[in-house]
Amino acid sequence: MYITELEVDNFKSFGKKTKIPFFEGFTVISGPNGSGKSNIIDSVLFCLTLSGARGLRAEKLTDLINLNTGKNTAEVSITFSEGTKIRRKIKRTPHGYYSYNYLNDRACKVGDIVEFLSRNGIKPEGYNVVMQGDITRITEMSDTERRKIIDEIAGVAEFDKKRDQALSE
Ligand code: ATP
Ligand code: MG
Repeated sequence: MYITELEVDNFKSFGKKTKIPFFEGFTVISGPNGSGKSNIIDSVLFCLTLSGARGLRAEKLTDLINLNTGKNTAEVSITFSEGTKIRRKIKRTPHGYYSYNYLNDRACKVGDIVEFLSRNGIKPEGYNVVMQGDITRITEMSDTERRKIIDEIAGVAEFDKKRDQALSE
């Protein structure tokens, strides 16, 4: 399963509704500094609710709303190759913000999104995105820390956690 299309609307630098195609295997996004490449990655993290686990570059979710259009919502949708569409919307109100999730255009809970992604091998705590600076960090970290990342990728870390839990009970 892979992403076939990303649609961003009023999200960060994307003031206009923009569709971005993705291809099987490898897709490269190139452009000048500040043109919005990393904002595209941010939009994927936001939509798939992976933002908590790996750094989304925003202090608060409302920073994701475009600053120039005056609109109070930002929206991102992702279509997968097997047909499923995930959409997330954030709305700013005088009392704070609201976040809405949709699975195939039907309102759903965050848990439903997490469950769908988990079934397809994308876990919120997993190493899904290699962020800028990560490679340097990995080469500079201690052997033990590096081993932890490899265990996470290999899926062993989950069993270590379960074993520790069982031993403590
Ligand atoms: P680089 O090559 O330097 O990594 P980039 O293509 O990854 O650049 P981004 O970081 O994606 O660039 O985009 C930065 C731009 O997004 C900045 O110009 C910033 O002003 C703009 N931006 C970020 N948040 C918002 C927002 N809420 N509303 C409007 N513009 C925004
Ligand atoms: Mg960037």
